[in-house]
Amino acid sequence: MPKCLTRQIFVLFERFGSECYGESVSQLDHALQCAEAAQAHGSCDAVVAAALLHDVGQFVDNAGNSAERFGSDARHEDLGARFLSSHFPACVTEPVRLHVAAKRYLCAVEPGYVLHLSEASRISLALQGGPMCAQEAAWFVDNPYAGSAIDLRKFDDAAKRPNWRGPGIESYRDLLERLQRA
Ligand code: FE
Repeated sequence: MPKCLTRQIFVLFERFGSECYGESVSQLDHALQCAEAAQAHGSCDAVVAAALLHDVGQFVDNAGNSAERFGSDARHEDLGARFLSSHFPACVTEPVRLHVAAKRYLCAVEPGYVLHLSEASRISLALQGGPMCAQEAAWFVDNPYAGSAIDLRKFDDAAKRPNWRGPGIESYRDLLERLQRA
């Protein structure tokens, strides 16, 4: 059973991984760079998996093209978390679900954070509700997964380097299957 979702995930990356969705990097390289950054930071396996899979919702129902082509927010974070939740525990799915909220939070509390966002990320920020207000930020930090989501968001923002080379998605198979069995 666990192998089932890993295979579906790999098929999704084969099919949509070359898409860029307004960024200067393919979705596959973005996911791999993000997971690599989580590992380099010493994050636990669940956060490494969340980093690898945080944008998988972009592949569901054409969500990845939503902001750029249609000017709407498809809530890829919810689509991705829902897709993963059939097999992965909350420690993986919640940081995925919260990674957009973490961007809105960081825009509200970290001066200058917004200046480091990619252009695509700034365009989507407006569609996602803009920086959080003080009340939203207080609710957000109360979530037990807020810390993991903030870490993930920072890996996400930095994982947009063109011409990057590193280990492929196959190198995460064991980690993904271990987490699905947990
Ligand atoms: Fe991302």
